[in-house]
Amino acid sequence: MAARAIGNATIEKVEEICGAGFKPARMFPKFDQEAFDAQKSWMVPDHVEPGSDRLVGSVHTWVVKTGKHTILIDTCLGNHKDRHNPGWNKLDTPFLERLQACGCHPDSVDFVMCTHLHVDHVGWNTKLENGKWVPTFPNAKYVMSRTDHDYWAAVAKRPGSVPFEVNTYNDSVLPIVEAKKAEFVSGEHAMCGCFTIKPAPGHTPGQIRLDLESRGKRAIFPGDALHNPVQVPLWKWNSCFCEDRDLARKTRNTLLGDCAEQGALLMPAHFAPPHAAYVKAKGDRFELDWDWDNARGR
Ligand SMILES: [Zn+2]
Repeated sequence: MAARAIGNATIEKVEEICGAGFKPARMFPKFDQEAFDAQKSWMVPDHVEPGSDRLVGSVHTWVVKTGKHTILIDTCLGNHKDRHNPGWNKLDTPFLERLQACGCHPDSVDFVMCTHLHVDHVGWNTKLENGKWVPTFPNAKYVMSRTDHDYWAAVAKRPGSVPFEVNTYNDSVLPIVEAKKAEFVSGEHAMCGCFTIKPAPGHTPGQIRLDLESRGKRAIFPGDALHNPVQVPLWKWNSCFCEDRDLARKTRNTLLGDCAEQGALLMPAHFAPPHAAYVKAKGDRFELDWDWDNARGR
């Protein structure tokens, strides 16, 4: 696959898994059948499975090369990890081989950006080596939100927390902190000459988004400010995984407005092919303009 270009930066998607998952009524607390059906003509079959109506999604990492730096945005689920979801438990995928196939050796990664610390965004932060979880990218700084870190660290310590959330922090975040490879951020930050880290809270307390600008071209990596493209026209719909629902809605609206106003390519973590789209604003409504160029992925 040819990499997408945003100015001088190149961006490739490395997929871990892709397929049909949740039913929309499970995913969206404010699910409304009539509103969903009104969107289905453009959703089926790429984003909604025909017949079952299950949402089709991907778990992938974005690899950004700026010429100076190699940056990974989110690191999927990881291999060999104890997880609650049978489809995510003790995975054994060739993710690292796929990463290397796009010219990205783990040693070459300079930054790992964790948009938030959910299970499907931090998995490849670490790998199992001689029975221990060690950083997969030994030369990288792992950038994460201070707020998100402290929140999930507290969850991991709290008696009665959900086991997979405890495991996620302990096997995929704590080893990074202990190896002194974590870099905590709060507020807005410039990075690598072309990125701006911005708070995008709601889905998790400290979620961050990454705005890329190079030679006048822009892309925005929103983490899970949205999971599925139906949340563009129906932007008031949160996912069931959003922690603070009012804040998540506000963040999504700001994000979509920024994409539309700046002509930025929206590059979420879970959209099925073609994985990225431009956003058009029509009054207080938003529409997608899919970026089918370079849509085939590894
Ligand atoms: Zn996610």
